Amino acid sequence: MATVYIGLGSNLGDREHFISEAKKRIRDLPETVMLSESKIEETKPVGYTAQPDFLNMVIKIETDLSPHHLLDMLLAIEEELGRTRDIPLGPRTIDCDILLYGEMEIRDNRLTVPHGEIRNRPFVLRQLVEVDADLRDPVTNEYYREVLENG
Ligand code: ATP
Ligand code: CA
Ligand code: CA
Repeated sequence: MATVYIGLGSNLGDREHFISEAKKRIRDLPETVMLSESKIEETKPVGYTAQPDFLNMVIKIETDLSPHHLLDMLLAIEEELGRTRDIPLGPRTIDCDILLYGEMEIRDNRLTVPHGEIRNRPFVLRQLVEVDADLRDPVTNEYYREVLENG
């Protein structure tokens, strides 16, 4: 089993509903158990700022699904919950990002793990540290709490 951290985000429609529905569907994936979760935080949009605020949270799961299989399942959940991709970084009912997949480092045309924006998004760092105070970047070995503190 791999320990995986997933970032959930929503800024369209009933945001809490989409977050909780995504959580439920991830919990029900095959070969997957839910371990813990951060609080939900309201955040300002990044990149494309002319859109509503987001709700974001991080969940921690254990899964036997491979990284790419898990990605396929997350993209399917997004689609079921009405996700469309009109504007890059634009409004969405639900976004499910694989932040960390165990200690793995993946860089191919479908997946970048650890997720490439962790360090640029303080709320992601905050929520990872909230779930696991001693979590480290598997590539650099730095504690995320120190990355967060040092900006
Ligand atoms: P960002 O990744 O900067 O948060 P985004 O979540 O809005 O942006 P999406 O449109 O949801 O980007 O995803 C585009 C593609 O990113 C996906 O189809 C997927 O193949 C790819 N991708 C690469 N790495 C990851 C990852 N770690 N988790 C989820 N998708 C990823
Ligand atoms: Ca994202
Ligand atoms: Ca995404």
